Amino acid sequence: MKDSDTAGIFTERLEQNLQKNSGWQQRDYLGLSHVTRHSCKRRMYFEAFAEYSEMPAVNGLSKCREGYVLERDLQEQIKEAGFELRLMGQEFLPFPGFKKIRFHIDGLLRIDGIWYLLEIKHRNNHKFIKFLQEKIPNETYDQVQGYLHFLRPPRFNPPVNRAMLLVKNIETGQMAAILLKYNYIVGIKLQKILLEMRKHIEAKRVPERGFEVGAKACKYCPYVGYCGEADEREAEAMAERTVIITREMAMDAGDLGMQGHEWRI
Ligand code: SF4
Repeated sequence: MKDSDTAGIFTERLEQNLQKNSGWQQRDYLGLSHVTRHSCKRRMYFEAFAEYSEMPAVNGLSKCREGYVLERDLQEQIKEAGFELRLMGQEFLPFPGFKKIRFHIDGLLRIDGIWYLLEIKHRNNHKFIKFLQEKIPNETYDQVQGYLHFLRPPRFNPPVNRAMLLVKNIETGQMAAILLKYNYIVGIKLQKILLEMRKHIEAKRVPERGFEVGAKACKYCPYVGYCGEADEREAEAMAERTVIITREMAMDAGDLGMQGHEWRI
């Protein structure tokens, strides 16, 4: 066997392993991070059903595994530094009994007797510097607020109403922590969105498109194909409804002896 063949087989096996052990899971629920990252409710809807989720390409799987490993390592470092850290990866249901919407936390951290929600992020140098300037992206801020909102009493007592956002620069290894306080207004806003999504998911009713066909925001949407199919089904249903209404109107006109009349509006 040629050296290049051996090297090729080696990388192929590694990629096959990545497909099995990347930590990627077929989604069958809507997570809070998806709600705060994307404004399109149709996209959120697709997220809640496994039949719409497809395995990402190698680069996506690789990022998935790296993210998982980096997160576990930071949690270990927090414990090694002597802090109490509990409920790592714990799952919560915003609506008890409804499993199609759920979220997982990175942990609950205790510092000087006070409990904080822990949220870990890994960012490149450019985004890390923005964090240092306290320009927390809206999606991250809202995600943390959502967690705090749904962790209010009676889930935890004393209440967890602060979060420690720990950000690590993946290029330099530098770390920064930002403390965030619970914001009721943002929490309620997210609760309303989740309630609306719950209704759609329960009724299996695809929400309206969030953007026009061909919009920039749709360019990287993994559900663009399913979105087009949903549009077609809606167009067919609309055409069917129109036929029924037209037929009913014709029958009404027939009953009144009005066939042949011209209607002007
Ligand atoms: S393609 Fe666009 S409109 Fe359709 S689900 Fe994705 S983001 Fe929403």
